[in-house]
Amino acid sequence: MKRCVFLVQAAALLLLVLSACSAKPEKAGTSIFAMDTIITMEAYGEGAQEALDEAARRLYSLDDLLSATKEDSEISKINKSAGSFVTVSDEVIRQLEAALEVSRRSGGAFDVSVQPLVSLWGFGTENPHVPGPEVIEEALRYVDYRKIEISGSSVRLSEGMSITLGAIAKGYAAKELSEMLKSRGISSAILSLGGNVQAIGSKPDGSKWRVALQDPKNPAGTAGLFELSDMAAVTSGGYERYFEQDGKIYHHILDPKTGYPSGSGLISVTIVCRDGMTADALSTALFVLGEDKAVEYWRDYGGFEAVLITEDGRMLVTEGLRDSFRQNGENYSLVYVQKGGD
Ligand code: ADP
Ligand code: MG
Repeated sequence: MKRCVFLVQAAALLLLVLSACSAKPEKAGTSIFAMDTIITMEAYGEGAQEALDEAARRLYSLDDLLSATKEDSEISKINKSAGSFVTVSDEVIRQLEAALEVSRRSGGAFDVSVQPLVSLWGFGTENPHVPGPEVIEEALRYVDYRKIEISGSSVRLSEGMSITLGAIAKGYAAKELSEMLKSRGISSAILSLGGNVQAIGSKPDGSKWRVALQDPKNPAGTAGLFELSDMAAVTSGGYERYFEQDGKIYHHILDPKTGYPSGSGLISVTIVCRDGMTADALSTALFVLGEDKAVEYWRDYGGFEAVLITEDGRMLVTEGLRDSFRQNGENYSLVYVQKGGD
């Protein structure tokens, strides 16, 4: 018997916003559904409400542009025209270039051309299911980021290929919105797009934003707390979107080498860095890479910090987070990871 549970944990990172400030600045908050997730935004200061209204409009239009399932999106156009060049907006080119860099650095653990596999598994549909090994084998022939060509503002996939920006688009949106809000003079805001949190400035009272890390083994609880200002924190976890078939759980982050949900031994990866788009791509990439290669990636390239939670109950925290992250509870044994080796 097949039992399907398709569960969307909208917020992998819960926002803890303390409202203890005396001289209260104008406060605005909004919550919408876009990019296949619940998005909440809070902003402070003059013009905060108008700025969030614009942010919401921008999110709906990014959704129309970037969705892999909306017929008229630029991504659908690229996919439908596989084999030919398609001219697209700068926004798509910027994300593809960032995605390709993470693909190269991760040796293909991150790959925007996983869409044939995503469709086969039915993630994002009413009826996700485990495909047969032959069809997975067939789809894998079309998964290879090296066959994506970019020339100026045009993109060409080789025939049979299709792409999804699912692992990077929310981060891109968060980064864009934070720039837009700052350009409108907003210096204190917090955005939460599913598992992507973007902190703009600090809280109105000057203290840092507090962002909770969801416990992957008990998603109603928290495993830690970040204190951040002007920073993105993005989590990828196997507990966020999954279905169950014949008593087994299948989550939505796929290993482009095998065609099956990644079983790297990591159950949650959080990336903290200034750039939300990079953080989003890296959270997915490091999740697929697994503990050893994820740590190696951090040591080789840097520019971000990470919290990796392993299936066997360890929480690996990169040393740059010593002051801004603390563990909550004792579900995991905490180990700091150093730049210089173990
Ligand atoms: P979420 O979108 O739930 O926050 P991620 O950022 O990790 O989680 O992105 C997962 C989405 O990215 C999947 O739903 C799928 O569309 C796509 N995806 C799955 N596996 C990969 C992969 N190995 N590389 C790039 N994109 C992937
Ligand atoms: Mg991601």
